[in-house]
Amino acid sequence: MERINESLFVKRGNTNVGVIEYEGKRYLIDTGSNEKFAKEISEEVGRIDFVFNTHSHADHIQGNRFFALKGASIYADERERFLIENPSMESFYLYGANPPKALKRSFFEAKESQVKSFSDFKMSGFEFVPLPGHSVGMTGIRFGNVLFCGDAYFGEEIVKKYLYPYLINVKEFINSIEKIENSNMDLYIPSHGQPSSDPSHDIKATKDALNNFISMTFDLLKTPKSVEEICFEMNVPLNFGTFYLFRSFESAILSYLEEKGEISNISYGKWAKI
Ligand SMILES: [Zn+2]
Repeated sequence: MERINESLFVKRGNTNVGVIEYEGKRYLIDTGSNEKFAKEISEEVGRIDFVFNTHSHADHIQGNRFFALKGASIYADERERFLIENPSMESFYLYGANPPKALKRSFFEAKESQVKSFSDFKMSGFEFVPLPGHSVGMTGIRFGNVLFCGDAYFGEEIVKKYLYPYLINVKEFINSIEKIENSNMDLYIPSHGQPSSDPSHDIKATKDALNNFISMTFDLLKTPKSVEEICFEMNVPLNFGTFYLFRSFESAILSYLEEKGEISNISYGKWAKI
């Protein structure tokens, strides 16, 4: 657990988690990527009163049930709340139907937990900052001049490792990044990467990776292709499960290019440059 200031700590892990002590209550920003991590947090800091989930992806909520059973109240954006309470919907929407075995693993599906909406959180001291794009209702959590950014951008080393910045809406993702660039916080804490007072380097790496995939996708559409054909032609290491994540990412790029008037459906399921 790293101390950031007198009331704020960060526990670094596969997914960074924040701990805030404020007016006699203890708050947790996300609950980590496995229950072991959640138990470690609990042993290090003790009782957690409130959990704020930045979004519903399994690696951010795997400890929810652990803290809920210990009496914590969990809050999230209204749209993310539905997915946290119904975790099988996460892999359902990635696949588009009853998901196959590869998507029924804990990497994609956490255990469900009961969640309240941010709009029902009535105590002061926190601001919930909408940062959609990576997921439908991803929300940054601002405390003082510190912003927990969730997956609005990724650390440069994470981008290098995974190659593509997962998102479901390109335009919203870019707008959310701009919102962060135009803000003036003392510290930005991404869920995957280093906390920093100046995240411009990580943001540039994230944007460069996205722009690279947008232009590679556009270039491939000199001849008509389906989203799957585009995925097969990209040199991204995938497995049976992550293929569907990547297909979702590429699907977002295709609808973005269509909105910009640069590509269209040339026949059903096939895209091409206009
Ligand atoms: Zn995520």
